[in-house]
Amino acid sequence: MSHSNLKFIQREQLKVKPKASELGFGKYFTDHMFVMDYSTEQGWYDGRIVPYGPISLDPSAMVFHYGQEVFEGMKAYKTEKEGIVLFRPDMNVKRMNESSTRLSIPQVDPDYVLSAIKQLIEIDQEWIPEGDGTSLYIRPFIIATEPCLGVRAAKQYQLLVIMSPVGSYYKEGIHPVSIYVEDHYVRAVRGGTGAAKTSGNYAAGIKAQEVAKDLGYSQVLWLDGVENKYIEEVGSMNVFFKVNGEVITPELSGSILAGITRDSVIAMLRSWGVPVTERKISVEELFEAHQKGQLEEAFGTGTAAVISPIGSMKWEEQQIEIAGGEIGECAHKLYDSITGIQRGTLDDPFGWRQVVK
Ligand SMILES: *Cc1c(COP(=O)(O)O)cnc(C)c1O
Repeated sequence: MSHSNLKFIQREQLKVKPKASELGFGKYFTDHMFVMDYSTEQGWYDGRIVPYGPISLDPSAMVFHYGQEVFEGMKAYKTEKEGIVLFRPDMNVKRMNESSTRLSIPQVDPDYVLSAIKQLIEIDQEWIPEGDGTSLYIRPFIIATEPCLGVRAAKQYQLLVIMSPVGSYYKEGIHPVSIYVEDHYVRAVRGGTGAAKTSGNYAAGIKAQEVAKDLGYSQVLWLDGVENKYIEEVGSMNVFFKVNGEVITPELSGSILAGITRDSVIAMLRSWGVPVTERKISVEELFEAHQKGQLEEAFGTGTAAVISPIGSMKWEEQQIEIAGGEIGECAHKLYDSITGIQRGTLDDPFGWRQVVK
């Protein structure tokens, strides 16, 4: 790891850290952040770790007007045997570059960015919470900073990495969520930006999320934007169904985000000898499977919750209960196995843990 070219300006007075019980998600931020600038003339330059705080942008910065932005999300954990570890962080940096390609944002050097992230974690390591289920959430993102109202790719960008200690996603253990199948609004369409991790996808999804919340559901299940028929994702997670002993997840069609947890779940299930199929699955097929008593489990996957079991689902006039509203066996085993690897309490046969320090 080479940090020799990385400038570090230390915060004069360190912040007071929140209590473990008050963490929640993304409310508190650590003492420092990583910042790096880009211009077409210089490429990426001036990578630096500086005190966390507000940044100054021109009101005409292109990100405010046309939304040229990409982001990532990953977690660091303090383990007993290996010190601080990350879970497959190379996949996050690679995916950020893939999202950037779609948004016409310049590529970063993955090794440099990963090494900068590791140094930032090392500097702010006191912020990694140690309580059960807690972690340090890391949010790298790139914004178009060029002051200009012309509609085109910007010529200036800034990459930032901020970090937030987060509490256990499940305060009282994992509990299944209720899902509203959204048949009006769509999140993404073929040829759109659904496969990129970009803020615009979220901006487009908030309305449906509010409608579902008002109706008493905790998340939205997104259908494809062309036929309004095939299942894509759930909230900001990928989605899996266990039907008659087989696990099915929507194939990466171009409008679905290629989740790292999704990839890990598929690999893990296959290593257990559970058949996994990536294919189109219509909401109709799913409800029919339930009717026949073959829908055994449903769950979402993503970095924040890891595994989020689905206990009930509402589609048009039909409301179904899945796995008796309880956590399915498969979801439970996946949750324990993945979090065990992340926290260093289980062996890591896939080589997913990466030691920071
Ligand atoms: C980030 C994200 C996911 C989950 O990806 P992970 O790499 O598993 O965290 C799924 N869907 C959307 C829309 C996302 O933004």
